Amino acid sequence: MSNIERNARKTEVVIVGGGLAGSTAAAMLGRAGIDTVLIDPHTIYPPDFRCEKLEEAQVAVLRKTGLADAVLGSATPDGDSWIARFGRLIDKRPGDQYGILYDSLVNTIRAEIPPSVAFIQGKVADISTNAEQQTVTLSNGDEWSAHLVVLANGLNSGLRDKLGMTREDLSKCHSIMLGFDLKPANRPAFDFPALTYYSERATAQTAFLTLFPVGSTMRANLCIYRQMDDPWLRKFREAPEATLFAIMPGLKRITGDFKVPGTIKIRPADLYVTKGHIQAGVVLVGDAFATSCPAAGTGTGKVFTDVERLCNVHIPRWLTTVGMDRDKIASFYDDPIKRSCDTHSFAKAYSLRALSIEPGLLWSARRWARFIARLGLFALRRLRVPLSIQPSHRGTGIEETRADFRKAA
Ligand SMILES: Cc1cc2nc3c(=O)[nH]c(=O)nc-3n(C[C@H](O)[C@H](O)[C@H](O)COP(=O)(O)OP(=O)(O)OC[C@H]3O[C@@H](n4cnc5c(N)ncnc54)[C@H](O)[C@@H]3O)c2cc1C
Repeated sequence: MSNIERNARKTEVVIVGGGLAGSTAAAMLGRAGIDTVLIDPHTIYPPDFRCEKLEEAQVAVLRKTGLADAVLGSATPDGDSWIARFGRLIDKRPGDQYGILYDSLVNTIRAEIPPSVAFIQGKVADISTNAEQQTVTLSNGDEWSAHLVVLANGLNSGLRDKLGMTREDLSKCHSIMLGFDLKPANRPAFDFPALTYYSERATAQTAFLTLFPVGSTMRANLCIYRQMDDPWLRKFREAPEATLFAIMPGLKRITGDFKVPGTIKIRPADLYVTKGHIQAGVVLVGDAFATSCPAAGTGTGKVFTDVERLCNVHIPRWLTTVGMDRDKIASFYDDPIKRSCDTHSFAKAYSLRALSIEPGLLWSARRWARFIARLGLFALRRLRVPLSIQPSHRGTGIEETRADFRKAA
């Protein structure tokens, strides 16, 4: 007998959307023995340009979901991560990043969902909710009833609209992320295991370029602050190498010549938050509730925090008593750990943007203070632990920094 027949289309929790948030929730609830159904249009999550690496802070939250070993086993650790600006190395961070393409990340998590969780391939067309029982209707007319609906359907706002929720745009096209592969020209490998190269001047409208390994490929994410109709994007597609060197003139000193061999993916990110979300019977997680800026790198941390709090703390507690009223649901949005994570995510999105592109002496001074502090820290660390570095990167950079300051100020 199939899961569907066995459960007679009734369950405790229906999860709508099997991206990062929904799949993580399904794995956690299934492992906790909670009767759960996951609904998504794709049995295998398709290639999708989203988060492509996990950083230390995100891995720390991932560990609380019980899924870190599986995810890290499918990811590529970066080794040392070089930090550079103005054509010189300003720091070498011990490796704390893991490269993994988004579809691999989601499919790895899906493989951890226990067989007790029914996966329904389909699209949810409607949801009706109240304090007792929820009904989810698929586009083929099938219905599921549940005590709780977890809405994890990402950017798609149709179902939120039907529930009377609204999207409050905080910053349209806050940033644009470009994703592409990079190959060193005329040599087998780059000198660095991973690299983050910060923008040299505010007029470049760029936060950083980050290079990190995913399997045997060197992957690049470039974060810029422009509009989608900016002709600069077409220029970048036509001549990525020259366009990159034009906005980051010192980059070649670190990377040498390189080629961009494959497709260039370009995606804008709007910052928004959902309003009218405190409703009986339904709870929103991940991008369904609020988005993040990809450049700030807080999206996956936010997803993991939402799901970890919901599945480790709130749902188990809610299911011990009858009903799913507004007060229960509100307790999730009031969770201090979730709130502080959301606040941090928005704050970082704005501060990184301002630090990267705001004109004026004050912001310029802040950029320089950060740069010089990093150089100083790196110099101190090298006094304590001698590192083997490339000859062109041996100086502390202080003399060249003065010259750069005069150019950029
Ligand atoms: C270009 C880009 C780069 C990014 N880079 C980073 C980064 O470097 N670091 C970082 O931390 N974050 C990054 N982020 C953010 C991060 O990727 C997202 O926050 C995260 O993927 C959101 O996951 P989610 O599960 O909420 O949504 P999604 O992964 O979008 O999942 C939504 C799911 O819902 C399904 N669905 C939609 N409608 C329905 C329906 N009606 N019925 C059933 N299912 C439905 C979809 O098919 C999908 O499977 C980036 C985002 C973008 C766009």
